[in-house]
Amino acid sequence: MFKKAVITLISLLLASALLGGCSAGDTSSETYSDTAFMLDTVVSVKIYGVPEADARAAVDAAFSEIARLEGVLSSNIVGNGIDLLAQNAGTGYTELDYDAVYVLRKAVEYAELTGGAFDPTVGPVVALWNIRNGSGYVPTDEERAAAAALVDYNKILFDENGRVMLADTGMSVNLGAIAKGYIADRVKALLTSMGIEHAVISLGGNVLAFGGKPDGSDFVIGIQDPFGSTGEIAATVSVRDMSVVSSGDYERYFEADGIRYHHIMDPFAGAPANSGISGVTILSDKSVDGDALSTAVFVLGRNEGLELIESLDGVECVLIGSGGERTVSSGLKDSVVFR
Ligand code: AMP
Ligand code: MG
Repeated sequence: MFKKAVITLISLLLASALLGGCSAGDTSSETYSDTAFMLDTVVSVKIYGVPEADARAAVDAAFSEIARLEGVLSSNIVGNGIDLLAQNAGTGYTELDYDAVYVLRKAVEYAELTGGAFDPTVGPVVALWNIRNGSGYVPTDEERAAAAALVDYNKILFDENGRVMLADTGMSVNLGAIAKGYIADRVKALLTSMGIEHAVISLGGNVLAFGGKPDGSDFVIGIQDPFGSTGEIAATVSVRDMSVVSSGDYERYFEADGIRYHHIMDPFAGAPANSGISGVTILSDKSVDGDALSTAVFVLGRNEGLELIESLDGVECVLIGSGGERTVSSGLKDSVVFR
């Protein structure tokens, strides 16, 4: 999987190098995109409808902002606020950056909405399994139970000064299921402030499109086929201003004794969620919402997940079951095309 991501990155880089070679006066030269490996995934920003120099400046600014926010929100950076929060768990409050507090509060909202299917305090379970593409650890039942016992979003305490504390020693926060969505929203705000009106921000399975194409047509966003290789599409959706976020068991996993262990955890079991879903795609206005919901619906499974999505205004979903079954929420029936 990791190799695949690198190969995808290399081919995307080659493709963007080729695109960059358009001759002056060619209207396509007014579209500029760049790709990088950030946030543990392939990130690309594509700008339409402005001169190339402006687009380049916008893409550079976007990448800087992504790097900054990765530093603030990542669980793998020694000494950042998320790390200090874990170090101070059970003992004291930690002052966090504005963005970390905002995302943490959003994460708690979604934990409440989903009864803990989505839970940012899943950190100890994520750390225990340590799932990378192609490697990980299968814990004992005791180890799973011990990690699951540390998961409880009600034990994230906020004081009146905006500082945060995890109530019990051993607790930690992992914002991996919501951070990319938040970052996409921030990058959109940044690009908009720079005068960009048409763009597609793609952070791994997190796509945020805005403004449609300059010629008035929609962006067509592919939905990864959970059973295909990376880049193989199960369906497409046409969008103008919309976040399209996918979560799936194909994104990060390892195999042991013929079993696939993927990265989306059932916080109660302390183990990869086994809900009968292989891929979830959420359409929403804001990517932070789509990101939290994509992970939550994966954990909840088809029936509960669909019920949740149907109860929310302006949110739609496409679900692909582990046997290939397809489910589309009621507001999306006409705009999704399966291959
Ligand atoms: P996503 O790709 O958005 O579904 O996010 C998956 C990532 O979020 C995982 O790699 C973990 O870091 C973290 N995570 C896993 N399970 C959960 C969960 N139930 N609630 C919140 N975060 C989770
Ligand atoms: Mg998510």
